[in-house]
Amino acid sequence: MKIDILTLFPEMFSPLETSIIGRAKENNLLNINLINFRDYSKDRLKHVDDTPYGGGAGMVIKPEPIYDAYEDVIKNSNSSSHKVIYMSPKGKVFNQEIAKELSKEEHLIILCGHYEGVDERIIEEIVDEEISIGDYVLTGGELPAMVLVDAVARNIGGVLSEDSTKDESFTDGLLEYPQYTRPEEFHGRKVPDVLLSGDHAKVDKWRLEKSLEITKERRPDLYDKYIKNV
Ligand code: SAM
Repeated sequence: MKIDILTLFPEMFSPLETSIIGRAKENNLLNINLINFRDYSKDRLKHVDDTPYGGGAGMVIKPEPIYDAYEDVIKNSNSSSHKVIYMSPKGKVFNQEIAKELSKEEHLIILCGHYEGVDERIIEEIVDEEISIGDYVLTGGELPAMVLVDAVARNIGGVLSEDSTKDESFTDGLLEYPQYTRPEEFHGRKVPDVLLSGDHAKVDKWRLEKSLEITKERRPDLYDKYIKNV
């Protein structure tokens, strides 16, 4: 998958160089490009923002540098389709289902806002979907873009082993059961006997029960949905 990220702060994206996402890039499963749309400003001082029409606090990012950066990305792309996402607190709230859907795309272009956000006309002109990572306001779209890229990349074939994503939280609509590793006893707390029994049917049954219990307690919304569908 190709991902182009339009941002004013490309230096913020070093977390995508490490661990699983870094490896996916090395293995050519992911190709991530960072484009600083300030480079496309025609302003002598490279300004990209201006005061809002109608008054009010803060600055709004102008449409032209974003559009010119977008046009360059499209011109240099050989993908047959692409989807443009604007990270925005006003967008659809991101979840695992959206991450899975987006992982099927050939080419994502992610726009990160800053300050008071971007001029509405650039959203109308180029954006296919606005996505929020939750009901709170962050300083910029860079952290949300990294959250989205990480969650999407984990669902691209070959990035993780299939087993790793099979039983995870949200995969079947439930939260994951508790996990344990060695030692068998830690500060007097023992690993549940069933996990040491070697009886796979019993382990599966225990894990499902725990998943149901945890989901019911912590996320009754997910639990009710799951129960309605089984
Ligand atoms: N004035 C905007 C509002 O009230 O909706 C908030 C702008 S915010 C300070 C600056 C930028 O951060 C946004 O343009 C967006 O790209 C990003 N952003 C902030 N919170 C976000 C969230 N919860 N999800 C996704 N992006 C977010």
